[in-house]
Amino acid sequence: PDQSKIRNFCIIAHIDHGKSTLADRLLERTGTISERDMQEQTLDDMDLERERGITIKSHAVRMTYKAQDGEEYIFNLIDTPGHVDFTYEVSRALKACEGVILLVDAAQGIEAQTISNLYLALEQDLEIIPVLNKVDLPVAQPDVIAQSLEDLIGEPAEDILAVSAKTGTGVDDLLEMIIDRVPPPSGDPDAPLRALIFDSVYDSYRGSVVYARIFDGTLSQGEGMEFMSNKKRYDAEELGTLRLGRQKVDKLSAGDVGYIIGSVKDVQDTRVGDTITTEKNGATEPIPGFKEVKPMVFSGIYPTDTDDFEDLRSALDKLQLNDASLTYEPETSAALGYGFRVGFLGLLHMEIIQERLDREFGLDIITTVPNVEYRVKVSKPGEEDDGNIVTVDNPEEMPHYGDIDEVYEPYIRADIITPSDYIGNLIQLCEDRRGEYVEQRWLDTERVSLVYELPLAEIVFDFYDTLKSVSRGYASFDYEFIEYRQSDLVKLTILINEDPVDALSTIVHRDSAYEIGRKLTKKLKELIPKQMFEVPVQASIGRRVVARETIRAQKKNVTAKCYGGDITRKRKLWEKQKQGKKRMKQVGSVDVPQEAFLAVLSMN
Ligand code: GDP
Ligand code: MG
Repeated sequence: PDQSKIRNFCIIAHIDHGKSTLADRLLERTGTISERDMQEQTLDDMDLERERGITIKSHAVRMTYKAQDGEEYIFNLIDTPGHVDFTYEVSRALKACEGVILLVDAAQGIEAQTISNLYLALEQDLEIIPVLNKVDLPVAQPDVIAQSLEDLIGEPAEDILAVSAKTGTGVDDLLEMIIDRVPPPSGDPDAPLRALIFDSVYDSYRGSVVYARIFDGTLSQGEGMEFMSNKKRYDAEELGTLRLGRQKVDKLSAGDVGYIIGSVKDVQDTRVGDTITTEKNGATEPIPGFKEVKPMVFSGIYPTDTDDFEDLRSALDKLQLNDASLTYEPETSAALGYGFRVGFLGLLHMEIIQERLDREFGLDIITTVPNVEYRVKVSKPGEEDDGNIVTVDNPEEMPHYGDIDEVYEPYIRADIITPSDYIGNLIQLCEDRRGEYVEQRWLDTERVSLVYELPLAEIVFDFYDTLKSVSRGYASFDYEFIEYRQSDLVKLTILINEDPVDALSTIVHRDSAYEIGRKLTKKLKELIPKQMFEVPVQASIGRRVVARETIRAQKKNVTAKCYGGDITRKRKLWEKQKQGKKRMKQVGSVDVPQEAFLAVLSMN
């Protein structure tokens, strides 16, 4: 196709501001999907996305649009997720585009991810089209929000388009605006091929399906190609564009966005961010890749049934293909057996991966309490301080108490955006979490941006939920890693029936160690069912026990509660016990349910 008729763009926004709904309208207005086949948020095709109403993966789709100038244009739209954990998905998608629609809910105004996504787009030098959404809502304040957008990006308020993705108002104007403002791609179709992989999925019949943006050159069906990072070679068996499904074409050339299949069975060969070139007359320089994403939160994942270990490994392999930010390596736990230490970008990311392992791979897994990665400076007795730094991504690997010189933990900079009424509550929240105040700035007459530096460990648990509850749902936040800082941290060990349970230890600040120990033992007492014998539950720092609870021995048979008579009730109870059993692990001689391994998360 003629490059001047192509427009590659993304929609970026804070979560729930209407990206997926707007994408639906664009699909409809361009006739890509008929009104009859229209479902809500068509592009969110994963079950999990539909149920949770959020976009997890970026989605690409190609539309043809007959413009008012009578010409036909090709739009490649990439829908992106908005949650903090998935920022890396957004930056990948942006690489494949020349412009973005920055969508802002006209009732909510600018939120934390509006700003963080805007910065990502600015970093890539993309054309930014600010658009107000949800103007059909009676509470919408398009004028006020347009003004705050003008203050933020300099676009004159009166030029900012207002639409309703729900009713379709303004969507036709937006289509025209995309043509006017998003620059067409500018690569050379005759130059050596450079195609950037921005996503890939695993298809059990075809192997890796790569989604790529062609920057230069042309790739034809059947041609030999090479992945530049690892020099692996495959034939381009099938090429195509992405309407709602795959659509085969003979070739893809500069400016196009499409998919490439080359019977790549080894999922590690197709790395997101890699450049594909042709085997013959290939390019010499790859396209600069994406910023390496680093996992921030780690947790152990173990199969409930030890025999499933290899299945778990191959499931993680496949998920990683689709999700470059996922990392894992094998580990063993005395309590849980063989499993993996898995790195995630955040808690939502962790939840999603766990659910996908369960749903897409039918795996029964036990997960341990998430933790951040610590750096520990150790002094070896009798040796000069040699600056030995140990990286600890599993509390169990914390060096021996007496050998530790200093412990460092990751700090983040949090940008909280809130109506001014809740500033007091939010400052309190940050102070409670060992936060250090940086600054406060007014965005408009009602909304404030509050900046704090906080230990990452303090926000990975329930910070987001607490932030929402103390601000009645109005505050939003985003964060970025800044640096490692020294803190007074200790390992809190949990002993069940006098045995330390490695999977339950955590690293906590010394000042809160007692309180956490007390709460944790109490919670474990609630969560661990009574056994045939008395079970002490203790928390200790080094050798010192700081809290203790006792699970009394079980006296009667549980089914006795049913008075022997009602057989269906009895059966139900048995069923329930069986279900509960599924996610139990034998720790020493004690049955411990999955929830107990996550007790820290539900302590408050
Ligand atoms: P995303 O998270 O940015 O993809 O947002 P969604 O497209 O999933 O929309 C979030 C919610 O806002 C959904 O309940 C939509 O129905 C609703 N929504 C989206 N656009 C509009 C609009 O223009 N007007 C109204 N009233 N609701 C909208
Ligand atoms: Mg969405």
